[in-house]
Amino acid sequence: MKRIILPILIVLFCFNNYAQEQHTCGYIKRLALNNPGGLAKVNYPGDSNYDVNYYKLDLTIDYANTRIIGEVTIKANSVVNDLSSVFVDLKDYMVISEIKTGSQSLSFQQNNNIVTIDLDKSYNEGEEFEIVINYAGNPSGGGFNNSYFRTTRVGTPLFSTLSEPYSTSEWWPCKDTPADKADSADIWLTCSDSYIPVSNGKLMEIVENGSTHTYKWKVHYPIAQYLISVAMTNYDIYPDEFEYEPGKFLPVNHYVYKGTLSQSRISQLERTIDMLELFSDAFGEYPFLREKYGHAEWEWGGGMEHQTVSSMGSFGEALMSHELVHQWFGDKITCKNWESIWLNEGFATYGESLWWEHAYGFDRYMHDISSNMLHAKSATGSIHVQNINSVGQIFNGARSYSKGGVVLHMLRGVLGDDKFFKAIKAYINDPVLAYDVAVTEDFQRVAEESSGEDLDYFFSQWIYGENYPTYTVTWNYTEENNQYLVKVNIRQETNSEPKFFTMPVEFEIKTASGSEFYTEFNNQQDQGFEFILFEEPTQLIFDPNNWILKDASVVTSVDNFEELKDEFFLEQNYPNPFNPTTIIQYNLPQATNVKLTLFDNLGNEIITLLDEVKNPGYYNFELNSAEYGLSSGVYFYQLTTNKFANTKKMVLLK
Ligand SMILES: [Zn+2]
Repeated sequence: MKRIILPILIVLFCFNNYAQEQHTCGYIKRLALNNPGGLAKVNYPGDSNYDVNYYKLDLTIDYANTRIIGEVTIKANSVVNDLSSVFVDLKDYMVISEIKTGSQSLSFQQNNNIVTIDLDKSYNEGEEFEIVINYAGNPSGGGFNNSYFRTTRVGTPLFSTLSEPYSTSEWWPCKDTPADKADSADIWLTCSDSYIPVSNGKLMEIVENGSTHTYKWKVHYPIAQYLISVAMTNYDIYPDEFEYEPGKFLPVNHYVYKGTLSQSRISQLERTIDMLELFSDAFGEYPFLREKYGHAEWEWGGGMEHQTVSSMGSFGEALMSHELVHQWFGDKITCKNWESIWLNEGFATYGESLWWEHAYGFDRYMHDISSNMLHAKSATGSIHVQNINSVGQIFNGARSYSKGGVVLHMLRGVLGDDKFFKAIKAYINDPVLAYDVAVTEDFQRVAEESSGEDLDYFFSQWIYGENYPTYTVTWNYTEENNQYLVKVNIRQETNSEPKFFTMPVEFEIKTASGSEFYTEFNNQQDQGFEFILFEEPTQLIFDPNNWILKDASVVTSVDNFEELKDEFFLEQNYPNPFNPTTIIQYNLPQATNVKLTLFDNLGNEIITLLDEVKNPGYYNFELNSAEYGLSSGVYFYQLTTNKFANTKKMVLLK
């Protein structure tokens, strides 16, 4: 789901090419206001004693009386022995007239938005039971305050549903958790024949009943309760199709308000086909090929990824790509719990960036990433949602959306394009997860298996940790024999959790004739790296390709650099292995006698290279092996002062 542009922003940005990707600044505040009740009214995560197999919704929309009259069939398997009573979630204002199994009425109790039902008998583990619930009422609330009975902006009656995260049980009885998908569903909708209804799956039949008609859809794929949707007004339909294989077509039907099918709108809608092509290439085939894709216009300001038919408040590229990507990430693989919502929203947000990259190039992608990074920096707490009682916390724009998307960008940086896209494809097509549910550890497992890399540091800090690193990068260089030793120190401010961030970091060192790029693994809060150039460095750029969500300042100062070196220090010689010369560098924070000694590989002292009193400073000692007649082999060099001793290994390779 995505709520984007505020009306005022449409005015401000209507001539701005980037308007469609603006995140609403009022996002969090509005969500908080819209959901005063939080979780108190829902029972979560539903009755865990059964596993839903099938839902059938047979609903009549009585718009004149703002009522739903429904019969919902639930087929489910018991997952325990001796199951004689179950509960489903349904708001108390929905009045149940009867619950049956077959022709037998079942006794039930309805309170606190829970319906407890005595089954006709005890069911053992693996046995299927069926209940049929007849009910009616006026649904109220609506996810994100999308009220059910509305009028369109062109003044026509509109019925539409938005159930994420806790609103499904406002309009039909279900197990109100994404953890338990139904394997299939039927959705029958009866309404006045002056309106056209739209729902999920494949339209199988339209039955005319006089002044009303009944539309019957079949959902062949697993579906989460909150992805079942209904919308109804006097739509115009713009039919299109996507040729996903030569000669094979997926229907792509756009339900838009009557009289709004201008040429410019048709051009917008037709972009869906390009997007289907892009995302099928990137993620594997569209998940619901036996059914359809499409859009249903509604009055809510953003979009919602209802399975096979996204509900849309507008048709900008960002919103269209976002909801389409959800068909893979959200609908094909659904977050198992709301703590893991970033698996839906982070991926959909990142999918927008991929669309920009595909349509307008990598610079446009980076523009989108930078804008998400800016937004992500205001995120507080971990991406793994701490408080799912608050809908505003689950759907926090800076955290679940922008930072979630940026995490995927960072993973792309860590793995490189080949491994990253392979991992994404492996995840969405994983035999265990596909058409089922997932948590962060599932994605991590597949990403690690696919890439062959240990990503525990990455997920633990970016999904379960908070904030982002603040780096101070100090650099300097020394010249010896036309070789330039560039020394870089990275220091991170102390963070709450993690204390500091572990990431591969990239450096660009510029010279008069071009740039050299180096990637190092930064896994200490204060860490030094060295690079050798054969040309004088003129500038160091940290993370030049902006792979990391960060604040960074780069300091090019001899003074500052030496401040960091307030300790005795013996560097690894360079080059190493060497022939015939190598440089040994060391730092003295105070005046002292210093002795530099060479040992052979048996530990015998063979040469005293240096033995004298020196002032504080950073020193280079050049060892010329030819001068001492050394042969190929392993040597050790040791620096000793009256307060410090350190030994390092070097290799002479002739
Ligand atoms: Zn979304």
